[in-house]
Amino acid sequence: MPMLLQSFGGIVTNEKAQVLSEKGTPLFPNLFAAGELVSGYLDGGYRSGDALMFGTVSGRIAAQSMQ
Ligand SMILES: Cc1cc2nc3c(=O)[nH]c(=O)nc-3n(C[C@H](O)[C@H](O)[C@H](O)COP(=O)(O)OP(=O)(O)OC[C@H]3O[C@@H](n4cnc5c(N)ncnc54)[C@H](O)[C@@H]3O)c2cc1C
Repeated sequence: MPMLLQSFGGIVTNEKAQVLSEKGTPLFPNLFAAGELVSGYLDGGYRSGDALMFGTVSGRIAAQSMQ
């Protein structure tokens, strides 16, 4: 089964894990993204464990942000 490892592009989100539009504002209030499909969390370099930790943390933030 194909899987992702190290995406350096992807969906842009804010601190609440809301998906942002090109203007930098939430695309929809309750549209969230977490994990590997989110852009930018690797900050230019891959360190073992970052991806799984980010998936856990960003998923928790998205869940907490849901209204
Ligand atoms: C070979 C390899 C080694 C890795 N080693 C490490 C490591 O050592 N340390 C580390 O931190 N990270 C590592 N990673 C990266 C880490 O595994 C991923 O970053 C992490 O699993 C991403 O989690 P995710 O929940 O974002 O996505 P995924 O784990 O890919 O989960 C996405 C889920 O969505 C499901 N899905 C897809 N399409 C649909 C659909 N249309 N409807 C419903 N479900 C759907 C998929 O079946 C899958 O279960 C590795 C990755 C690979 C491939």
